[in-house]
Amino acid sequence: MEILKGKPVADAVCIDVTKRVEDLKNNGICPKLAIVRVGEKPDDIYYESGAKKRMESVGIDVLSVVLPADIAQDTLEAKISEINGDASIHGILLLMPLPKAIDENRIKSLISVEKDIDGLTRESMVSLYEGTANGFAPCTPSAVMELLEYNKIDVSGKRVVIIGRSLVVGRPLSMLMLAKNATVTVCHSRTKDLPAVCRDADILVAAVGRARMVTADYIRQGAVVVDVGINMDDEGKMCGDVDFDSASGVAGAITPVPAGVGSITTSVLAKHVVIAAERSAR
Ligand code: NAP
Repeated sequence: MEILKGKPVADAVCIDVTKRVEDLKNNGICPKLAIVRVGEKPDDIYYESGAKKRMESVGIDVLSVVLPADIAQDTLEAKISEINGDASIHGILLLMPLPKAIDENRIKSLISVEKDIDGLTRESMVSLYEGTANGFAPCTPSAVMELLEYNKIDVSGKRVVIIGRSLVVGRPLSMLMLAKNATVTVCHSRTKDLPAVCRDADILVAAVGRARMVTADYIRQGAVVVDVGINMDDEGKMCGDVDFDSASGVAGAITPVPAGVGSITTSVLAKHVVIAAERSAR
């Protein structure tokens, strides 16, 4: 059984990104990401700090835009429009969820598709569903594809089962898999006999948000198991949606949590910023 760690994938993505950043800088373009944080939620601050470190490590500039939790809708809208209009910024990372008083969908919709490096807008989704290259897919499903590609796991013609149909993970991942010619099944809370459906998979992706739900009886002998979940168990320990100890007895390859898919996402974010900067130069 092979353990598919995230770090070598993230490192490979970063080597490529660093080179592309240098090329851009040689042509007078300094790639820059704006991170928009509303309020002081510890999870947001933690993610922001990780993203900043990653950008700095590959030479991408970061503008941190920190706004008060009680910001008015129109003030936040004006701020997003201002960042959209700033030609020195190539990508916008909006940390979510936004405070309840804010119309989040409206804010998301304001981000210009060229700068929507986390695939939040409708236009980005349309480009993902059409298979056109105008927008970006969200970073987590993109990280899953990077992980498979790095490990030379070809999805073409394979049966891929994804547990989870959220707009940030399950659905966009199904489109990325389809674009690579996988045969895709998307499962959710109403799927009947989930373990049996999952046992059909050559590649099983868990994006559920339920600690260690996926056990050995969900997995066909030798299947590839990708665990997107990030959960805290009863003892406060981080764990995935897959019960690693049980699953690793059956799977042919499996991602760990932590140190799996989650450690690739900020590298993918950096890659998207560079692509946005390259596109801006055309
Ligand atoms: P979400 O929006 O809560 O969606 C969860 C999905 O799982 C839903 O489609 C839901 O079905 C389905 N589901 C819930 N319980 C189920 C059950 N018992 N059987 C089958 N399906 C079930 O979660 P998300 O945002 O997609 O995130 C999923 C997991 O990935 C979470 O653990 C999250 O922390 C993690 N995550 C990780 C990263 C990363 O960088 N690694 C990034 C984002 C999220 P319904 O649609 O029917 O409700």
